[in-house]
Parts: sequence; C-alpha cells; structure tokens
Amino acid sequence: MVIYLSIEVKCPKDNNTMILVLESEKLSDGTVKAYFNYRCPICGFKLEVERIEITRSGEVISIKKTFTPPPSQQH
Ligand SMILES: [Zn+2]
Repeated sequence: MVIYLSIEVKCPKDNNTMILVLESEKLSDGTVKAYFNYRCPICGFKLEVERIEITRSGEVISIKKTFTPPPSQQH
C-alpha cells in the first residue's frame, strides 16, 4: 500500500509537503480500523485519504474501503 507516496500533497495552511501516515485502531468487538492520512509536520494539519474497516463475524471477514482523493493542487 504505497500507491500514494508518489503524490506530493502540500499543506493548505503553510504549503509544506505533507507526509503519509498510517494509523490503526482495534475495537473491542474485533473490528480493525485503519486510516491513511496526510499530516503536515509543521502545523499538524491532517487530511484523510483512505479509511479501511475490517469487520469479522464468525468465519466471515468483510473489508470496507472509503477512498477520499487528495485535493488537486492549485497554483
Ligand atoms: Zn501545515
């Protein structure tokens, strides 16, 4: 999952290059949520790119993906 690394995203607040961060959390019912976010190392501005939700009930595993394309750069 490194497909977004080639896309350079600038922070809308201070125009610094944002870095791609993967965060994940596990809920008590076994659901795993993973987020791909761009984060500005200077001001901490966060931009959600993709959310993956993995739910397991018995033998069935369902994966839900929500994709938010990065905003087009305006110069
Ligand atoms: Zn910033």
